[in-house]
Amino acid sequence: MIQRIDHLGIAVRSLDETVKYYEKALGLKCERLEEVASQKVKTAFFDVGGTHIELLEPTSPDSPIAAFLEKRGEGIHHVAFATDDIGAQLGEAKNAGVKLIHEVPFEGAAGKLVAFLHPKSTYGVLTEFCAPKDGAASHH
Ligand code: ZN
Repeated sequence: MIQRIDHLGIAVRSLDETVKYYEKALGLKCERLEEVASQKVKTAFFDVGGTHIELLEPTSPDSPIAAFLEKRGEGIHHVAFATDDIGAQLGEAKNAGVKLIHEVPFEGAAGKLVAFLHPKSTYGVLTEFCAPKDGAASHH
């Protein structure tokens, strides 16, 4: 079951610059910097009342985020829903006719299991499901 919006992923060219904006202009505090090698990105997380902003900077020209920046420029990249059972959630989406990018979840930032739905079958919004790795209810 979907529990809440876990985070919004935002594609940026420079974490250094963007983190400054979120800290200075919005008064938020960057709580974590992390590189996710499998996705070729560096990430910065901000807590906004339990929902997070995840800034994504590509670490390589063949990163999916580099491709997104090239095509669409900086901006909102994906919406992530926290679910208590990522396998069941993917199954439900698939049964509803949604095209999955990942049939099998993989380890994303913060040690969570994540998987994406294809934006062509989600009306333009790249959609992520995420769940704690142990499959238990969210620790938030
Ligand atoms: Zn994400």
